Amino acid sequence: MGSVLSMPGVLSFAEALEIVAARAAQLAQNKPAIESVALRHAAGRVLATPLRADCDQPPFARSTRDGFACRAAEASKHHPLVVAGATRAGQPAAGPLPPGAAWEIMTGAPVPRGADAVLMIEHVATTGEPSAPWIRLVPPRTIEPGENIVARGAQARKGEVLLSAGTGIGSAQVALSASCGYAVLKVFAKPRVAILCTGDELVPIKSKPAAGQIRNSSSAMLATMVAAAGGIPWVLPVARDTAKSLDAALARAVMADLLLITGGVSAGKFDLVEPALARMGARFHFTGVRMQPGKPLVFGELPKRATRTVKRQNGAKYFFGLPGNPVSSAVTFALFAVPVLRALAGSNDRAPRFALARLAEDVKTKPGLTRFLPALCTFAGAIPEVVPVPWHGSGDLAAMAKANCFLVVPDDAEHIAAGAAVRLLLS
Ligand code: AMP
Ligand code: MG
Repeated sequence: MGSVLSMPGVLSFAEALEIVAARAAQLAQNKPAIESVALRHAAGRVLATPLRADCDQPPFARSTRDGFACRAAEASKHHPLVVAGATRAGQPAAGPLPPGAAWEIMTGAPVPRGADAVLMIEHVATTGEPSAPWIRLVPPRTIEPGENIVARGAQARKGEVLLSAGTGIGSAQVALSASCGYAVLKVFAKPRVAILCTGDELVPIKSKPAAGQIRNSSSAMLATMVAAAGGIPWVLPVARDTAKSLDAALARAVMADLLLITGGVSAGKFDLVEPALARMGARFHFTGVRMQPGKPLVFGELPKRATRTVKRQNGAKYFFGLPGNPVSSAVTFALFAVPVLRALAGSNDRAPRFALARLAEDVKTKPGLTRFLPALCTFAGAIPEVVPVPWHGSGDLAAMAKANCFLVVPDDAEHIAAGAAVRLLLS
């Protein structure tokens, strides 16, 4: 066991992130299988083929205001213009606009031929009979050609790629798809992610833990995180801290596209996960990261012979040995497993999400490790403000559940003063 544990190095946080990003980029070269999904079920999926405009967008020169279509040069002279007709949204384009005339128009309606601007109703004075009205742009206001009109094809030309393959689908992409006539989208198949928690102390959620036992909370947590990241969670029964139990469990888990194993990767006597992976022929890319929580994190890949039957995945079969404490599992998943999972999902958006916020109170730490402190970011003010949540180490689920992000403390920091701009890991 000693030889396995001492194999590859313990890396800095930045080095580990870079190694995983490079592996994920390589993995992203192999595209997943493609399936069709109804638009109403497409949110959270990844587009597998480019989305193209089926016609010019907008398909006609469109008014963005209620008002009067006109020739800008005529209207800017402030002469009265006779209202020659009206177009409502849904009606075809009228015209041509006679000289010296304006045309009443509603928002979203096609601009009549010959008009080059739309006067806002609020900017004109009306005279004449209601049956034969005249309008005049109220001085000193003038209008330029193109004002309050979106030209035909301004947003997109027919056939133009609006979204590339690999784009994540949310409400805006659903709306765009709908506007282009797509009721069904081609999306990438989701990767299946094995979740294998290990530990003799773990009991199921519905059990009352006996002395020394704890409930397995990480299976449910990771299943939630995998689903949110675009994977299909496959929760395996908990493996015991024996070589036999681990070998049997890993032999099943290897059928997945990505393996998440929790626990058993520290330096303890019953931390048997690395030796079990080594028996399967694993190559370890790193076996520790100078971060806290998450120091014992293991990343590697299994050889092809250990990975039968997964048709769609031509690339490497990666695994993560996540440290057993739930907060460590959550942090390392968000930082390292998400990029690999997103690559397997065919997504172009793979990097973990960091953001900046203003620190609300002083933070003191010891240098040497990059730290991720459960923290609460509030968005009520002009600038997001973050405060660490008091916690009792990486088993403190109650603290993590009060938090909505992790405050990133660089490895050389000892003291960060209130008011400083700090980095957050969004989870
Ligand atoms: P390990 O990395 O196996 O030494 O686990 C460290 C600690 O994390 C254990 O002592 C447990 O308290 C906790 N732990 C491990 N696995 C889980 C799990 N699946 N759910 C909740 N807590 C866990
Ligand atoms: Mg354990």
